[in-house]
Formats: sequence, structure tokens, C-alpha cells
Amino acid sequence: MPELPEVETVKRSLKKRVLNRKIASVEIFYPNLVKSDLPLFSEKLKDQTIKDIKRRGKFLIFCLNDGYLLSHLRMEGKYFMLPQAEAKMKHEHLRLNFSDGMSLRYHDVRKFGTMHYKEQHELFTSEPLNKLGFEYDDPALTPQRIYDKIKPSQRSLKSVLLDQTIITGIGNIYADEICFCLKKHPAYKVSKITKKTVEKMLSCMQATLNKAITLGGSSVRTYKDTLGFHGRFQNELNVHLQAGKPCPLCQSPIEKITVSNRGTYLCRHCQKKR
Ligand SMILES: [Zn+2]
Repeated sequence: MPELPEVETVKRSLKKRVLNRKIASVEIFYPNLVKSDLPLFSEKLKDQTIKDIKRRGKFLIFCLNDGYLLSHLRMEGKYFMLPQAEAKMKHEHLRLNFSDGMSLRYHDVRKFGTMHYKEQHELFTSEPLNKLGFEYDDPALTPQRIYDKIKPSQRSLKSVLLDQTIITGIGNIYADEICFCLKKHPAYKVSKITKKTVEKMLSCMQATLNKAITLGGSSVRTYKDTLGFHGRFQNELNVHLQAGKPCPLCQSPIEKITVSNRGTYLCRHCQKKR
């Protein structure tokens, strides 16, 4: 499942291919993908030029002349850039046909992805973006702010990291890696956290996500022609998906447990519940 570094990588590859292209028509093969009014969605996108692409959490924001196309890839969403003349792909659910004969295809085996059209005034004040917390590198995200927000709760460190309304963009892979960097058990209760640990949590989060972005994200498989992530960060994972392998710090075997209903990887020796 793509998380912040993978979505950032997809954004960068999309920008190289679709910027300044004009949408001549929209074809929708799986209407449930679109969470806005369907006829209005196609009508609004038609004849618009893609001026920029931004990211907020795990959302891609296609900036148009007028308004925005919001896209969330969820489990398996991918984009392909192909000539319009090429046949519809299996699992292709939406297509933007550009005025120059190329087309951007949205492909999603699991069909969990979503798209919205948003007017300029409502982008950040309506769902889903109004629910999102801080970007991991927002200068306004201070240790004090995180401390005040999480300290009163009885939650686990991992559930706090996964909570998109606190800090947005972290999923299962990077939550496990951040807990390892912090040397805390993912089930560690944040009611016990100190300001010093929150400071370290923030620096672990920024170091982990920045390194993953630099390496193009994590990918288990690669897909020909996809505007996606063929990243190398999966080779740098310390604990996530590493069950049975030796911990990079102490050589104890990495274990898989369940925390917050999610498969969670850790080194019990290095990561303390205290
Ligand atoms: Zn260890």
C-alpha cells in the first residue's frame, strides 16, 4: 500500500509526464471510484489543463485551471501513460484523454482508490482533506504540539503514528520503521511519553520519510510503464516484513505481532514497552 514516500514518488513521475497537458475527454469505467457528482465530474475536468500536481498526506492533487482533481491510490491504485489508441487495460477504471493523443489511465486491482473534483474554495475545508493533520515536515509541527495532542490519550505509539488526523501520510511500513528508530515497542502507551521522546519521534519520522523519498519509496514489485514507485527503500527496511531476520542492531530475530489490528514487526530486545 503506497504511503507518503510512494505517493510523493508517484507525484514526481506524474509531474514529468502530464504537466501542461489538456484534458479533451474523460472516460469512467468504474463509477464508484468517483466520489463527486458523476456527470459534473467529467464536465468539470473536460478542457482543463493540468497546471501542477501536489501532495497532501497520501492524496495526489491535480491542480487544474479551475479547481482540483483529488486522487487517493489506497491499496493498489496506479497510473499509466499510454497512447489513446492502445486498448483498455484490465483493471483500468478511468482515463483522461489528452488533446495530444496520449492518455492517463488509472488502474486499480482492488478498486479501493477514490477520486473527487473540488472547487478552489472547498479543497481544504471539505472532506477528505479537512480531516488531515500535519505534514511530517511542516515547520508548525513542533514537539510541543504533538506532545499536547497525544499525551492525554491511552493509545499505543503505533496507533498514534497511523492516525491521519495527527500527522498525515504514515502507514504500516513507516510506522514500524519509526518505532524501531525510536527504540520503542509499537504498543508503548503514549500516556507515558516525555517531551524528549517526542522530539526524537519527530526526528525519526523525518529521517525515515526523507530517506524513503530520496530512494523513491518502497516497492515489492515493479510494473512496466507505470508512473509509479520503483523505489529501493525496501532494501533499507530494518523491521517491516523482516520476521525471522536478524535485527540490524542486536542480531535478535525480528518478530511479527499484532498492534492496532495491524501486522507489526519489531525487535523485542531493542524496542521497549517502558
Ligand atoms: Zn534489536
